[in-house]
Amino acid sequence: MPDYDAPYRLLIDGQLVDAASRLDVINPATGKVFAHCPAATAAELDSAVAAARRAFPAWKALGFAARAALVARFAAALEAEKEPLARLLTQEQGKPVGQSRDEISRGGTLAVGMTKIGIASEVIVDTADRYVELRYNPLGVAGIITPWNAPVNLAIGPLTSALYTGNCAIIKPSPFTPLTTLRIGEILRDIFPAGVVAVLAGGDELGARLTAHPGIDKISFTGSVATGKKVMASAAGTLKRVTLELGGNDAAIVLEDVDVADVAKKLFFAATVNSGQVCMAIKRIYAHEKIHAALCEALVAEARKAKLGDGLDPSTTLGPIQNSRQFERVRELHADAKQHGQVTEGSAGPSEGYFIAPAVVTGLAENDRLVAEEQFGPVFPVLPFSDVDDAVARANRTRFGLAGSVWSRDLERATAIASRLEVGTAWVNQHRITMANVPFGGAKESGLGRTYSRLGLEAYLEPQVISVLRSAQ
Ligand code: NAD
Repeated sequence: MPDYDAPYRLLIDGQLVDAASRLDVINPATGKVFAHCPAATAAELDSAVAAARRAFPAWKALGFAARAALVARFAAALEAEKEPLARLLTQEQGKPVGQSRDEISRGGTLAVGMTKIGIASEVIVDTADRYVELRYNPLGVAGIITPWNAPVNLAIGPLTSALYTGNCAIIKPSPFTPLTTLRIGEILRDIFPAGVVAVLAGGDELGARLTAHPGIDKISFTGSVATGKKVMASAAGTLKRVTLELGGNDAAIVLEDVDVADVAKKLFFAATVNSGQVCMAIKRIYAHEKIHAALCEALVAEARKAKLGDGLDPSTTLGPIQNSRQFERVRELHADAKQHGQVTEGSAGPSEGYFIAPAVVTGLAENDRLVAEEQFGPVFPVLPFSDVDDAVARANRTRFGLAGSVWSRDLERATAIASRLEVGTAWVNQHRITMANVPFGGAKESGLGRTYSRLGLEAYLEPQVISVLRSAQ
C-alpha cells in the first residue's frame, strides 16, 4: 500500500524507481509548489515497455476471470485508501474533497462493472465441411495518457479496459496532476505481476514518445482536441490503435414546461462541478424564451450560494481552476463575455490561488467566444430560443460532439429532440451520467471510439478469424 511519507517514484517492472529529474507540482488553491514528482526519461520509458512486453504472454494467458479478480482486489484497495488519496487529489487538482472521494469510489465501481462484461469467441460457421470462429486477442501494450481534470477516473477507465482484456499498460498522467496516480501505482505494484502496469510521470514530450514508441500497440488518450490530433498523427507511424476522448461544448436545451427551480439546481451543478473542468460539463444552456429570465435568475441564485475555497475545507463547494494557463484562458473568455454580453457573478473566491467566481452570462451571440469555444470553467452562457428547430441547429453548430441534454416534463418530446443532437451521448433530464456497461465517447472532433461497455473493451482487442476447411482431408 502507498507510503504517503515517501518521495514520489515511478513504477517500472514492479519496482518503485527514483528519477534523475523532477517536476514541481502546484497546489491551485494557493498557486504555490507543494510537492515534486519524478519525470521519466526516454530510457525509463524503454525499460517500462520492455518489462511490459516480457509480462504480456503470461498476462494474456491468465484469462478473463483471473484478471477480473485482480481488478476487483485493486478496486477494494483503492476504496480502502480513499481518504488519503482523496486529500492528495484535492491538493494537486483543487476539487472539493467530497468530489475527490466520489472520483476515487467511482473509479473502482466502474472498474469492477467493466469486468462483468463478457467477451467470448463466437462460432460463425460450423458445418460438415467448414468451421469458422471469431476470437478476440489482446493487442499487447497500451499507453494511457491522461489530463488534469479527473486524473484518477480517466486513468482507471482505460487501465481496466486494458488489463481486463489481457493487455499490459503504461500510464502517463498530466504533469499538472501526477501525484495521486503515482500513489495508485504503489497499490498496483502490490496486486499485479511485475511489468503488467507501469506509471511514468513526465511532461508533454513523454506523452509524444509514448505515441511514437514501436513497442506500444495502443494509445488511449484523454485530453484536448488539439493534442488528440497530434496523438493520432504520431500513432499513425506504427499504426497503433487509438481511442481518443477529447473536449466538448455540451449544450443543454431547456423547454418551457420545466420546473425552473429544480432544473436550475441540476443545470448549475452540471455546468460548474469541478469548476466546470469536465469534458461533459454543460457549457451552453439554450432556454425557451418563456422561462429564460426565470431560469437565469435561479442560476444566479445558485451561483451566489456557491462557496469558493480550498477543496480541503469541507464547506467548499467550488475549488480553484487547476492551473495558471487554464486560469488565464477562463479569464480571457470571461473578459470577452463582458464586452459582448451581461455577466452576473456569484460569490467570489480567495485572492490567492486560481479562483474564478461562477458566472451566468446573457446577451451573447453564437459566434461569441464563450458560446463557440470550450471554456472549461464555471462561467457559462444562457441563450434564449423561441423555436426548438432553431435551438437544435444552434446546439449542433460546432465541431464538438461529445454530449448534450434536453430538459422537459414531456419525455417523448424531449427524447425526440435529444435524438437530433449530433453527439455521442444525448441525455434527457440529466447530464454527465456514465455507466460501466454504456458506451461513452465523442462524435465529430470530440473523439474517436468509445470508452466503457463492450464497445470500449473491443478497442483493446484484435479480432482474429480461425477458419478451418474440414472437407479438405
Ligand atoms: P492536454 O491535451 O493538454 O493534455 C492531456 C495529456 O496529454 C497530458 O498528459 C499531456 O502531458 C499529454 N500531452 C501533451 N502533448 C502531447 C503530445 N504531443 N503527445 C502525447 N501526449 C501529449 O489536455 P488537458 O489540458 O490536460 O485536458 C483538458 C482537455 O481534456 C479538455 O479539452 C477536456 O474537454 C478534455 N477531456 C476530455 C475527456 C473525455 O472523456 N472526452 C475527459 C476529460 C478531459
